[in-house]
Amino acid sequence: MALSKLDNLYRQVILDHSSHPHHHGVLEGTTPIELNNPTCGDVISLTLELEDGKIQAIAFDGSGCSISTASASMMTDVVLGKTVDEAIELSGIFSELVQGNEPTKAEKLGEASILSGVAKFPARIKCATLSWNALKKALSTTENTATLGQVVNHEED
Ligand code: ZN
Repeated sequence: MALSKLDNLYRQVILDHSSHPHHHGVLEGTTPIELNNPTCGDVISLTLELEDGKIQAIAFDGSGCSISTASASMMTDVVLGKTVDEAIELSGIFSELVQGNEPTKAEKLGEASILSGVAKFPARIKCATLSWNALKKALSTTENTATLGQVVNHEED
């Protein structure tokens, strides 16, 4: 059956990403954004670097279930190189998708669109969206910092 094939693919992709997460770690010289999901115990620490309004580097750390880790891994793949606006749009598309809606432009999510299967398990939706929420928070924080000037290494008066 096509359905069980899809389930197998879903499981395999989640397993691959959770056992070998992409962009795992902490970027030097950046302040991590931390979020947790108390219902499951997932914790994520996200760091990113913006240059010319684009995400030039991104990394995540923390501990969580396979869904949250896989989702974070796929999220970093998808948003790397994107502008802040594009990344926020992607986060909105992803949020729609895992709540069981069929957003337009879902194909923009690439591999992350496989997590639409999470909609069948409402308790896991927060696991899947944790990293995307951390991304939104990090972008709003970084954006505010960036508007104050790119060079922020000098001491305050
Ligand atoms: Zn979880």
